[in-house]
Amino acid sequence: MSVMRKALLAASTNAWLRDHVTKWAFVRRSVTRFMPGEQIEDALQAAKAQQKLGINAILTRLGENLTKAEEFEEVTQHYLDVLDKVEAAGLDAQISIKPTQLGLDLDRALCERNMDRLVERADALGNFVWIDMEGSPYVDPTIEIFKRSRAKSASVGIAIQAYLFRTPKDIEAMIPLGPAVRIVKGAYLEPPDIAYPKKVDVDEAFFALCARLLAPDAQKTGTLVHIATHDIALAGRLQAYIRQHNIPKSAYEFAMLYGIQRQQQARLAKEGERLRVLISYGEYWFPWYMRRLAERPANVWFVIRTMLG
Ligand SMILES: Cc1cc2nc3c(=O)[nH]c(=O)nc-3n(C[C@H](O)[C@H](O)[C@H](O)COP(=O)(O)OP(=O)(O)OC[C@H]3O[C@@H](n4cnc5c(N)ncnc54)[C@H](O)[C@@H]3O)c2cc1C
Repeated sequence: MSVMRKALLAASTNAWLRDHVTKWAFVRRSVTRFMPGEQIEDALQAAKAQQKLGINAILTRLGENLTKAEEFEEVTQHYLDVLDKVEAAGLDAQISIKPTQLGLDLDRALCERNMDRLVERADALGNFVWIDMEGSPYVDPTIEIFKRSRAKSASVGIAIQAYLFRTPKDIEAMIPLGPAVRIVKGAYLEPPDIAYPKKVDVDEAFFALCARLLAPDAQKTGTLVHIATHDIALAGRLQAYIRQHNIPKSAYEFAMLYGIQRQQQARLAKEGERLRVLISYGEYWFPWYMRRLAERPANVWFVIRTMLG
């Protein structure tokens, strides 16, 4: 892993940097490339514009590791409102949440109750809740929370990280549930005894996991795969695999982040692929933004160019 990537991921958890850097005008300007604005209305407008291009959305309010009961309640209420707003606007926009936004760090039972409220509302509206995967200490509780929700409703899915050695086992255990799984490479700083440090290994793991979830026995259980990557070579390899095995479009969707690989997003939509773009919004964007910069060191030059005007 490059020194730059390590430094940016370490910076993502630094409270001093979070409090200061987010006030600098050029940083605020540069972040607009990756998020349409801080308010839900900005995200809904972006979702509407994407929908005209044949691209559906997933909405996520930035924020993680919340610590106060009133904050968990506020986030839960916020997402309940978002589900209603999406319905009123006639949009195809799902939501994606982090368990630590709903109380996982403080009170697991409360987090589960909040998750139930969101999944029940999504179910009633014909919508869908994705559960993001955070750093490795959260993997066990997040999978357990997902399984608990999935036992009650099919309107919930989970993000799973290809860089973790444990993931193939986790996936095997989930397949009988007919899960919706978003395969991602993984965005956190993890030690080499639990996660592949090299991109080439992560890419192979990503391909193998998607292929596993697209296999006939997994498909029989109703498994849905979100191929969540901007890696065009990898996505192309999977498209070829899908064609070769006559896998129906109902078995998978592509997913990308707002503002990244826009031309490729338009291309996939034009080719008739199902694609969702995850649109982030909210005021607490620092750790998320540092992870986006870490994914592509060239983004740091983009920030510097913004600073130089
Ligand atoms: C829909 C979605 C949901 C996600 N949810 C989670 C989650 O719940 N938990 C989690 O740990 N991670 C999540 N991620 C992030 C993921 O783990 C990766 O960190 C991120 O997607 C970068 O990896 P990549 O697959 O795009 O491939 P990479 O090999 O990192 O990138 C491939 C190419 O894509 C382009 N690219 C990638 N990232 C950027 C960027 N930030 N800016 C500009 N260009 C870029 C570059 O051209 C790069 O060469 C999510 C990603 C997506 C798309």
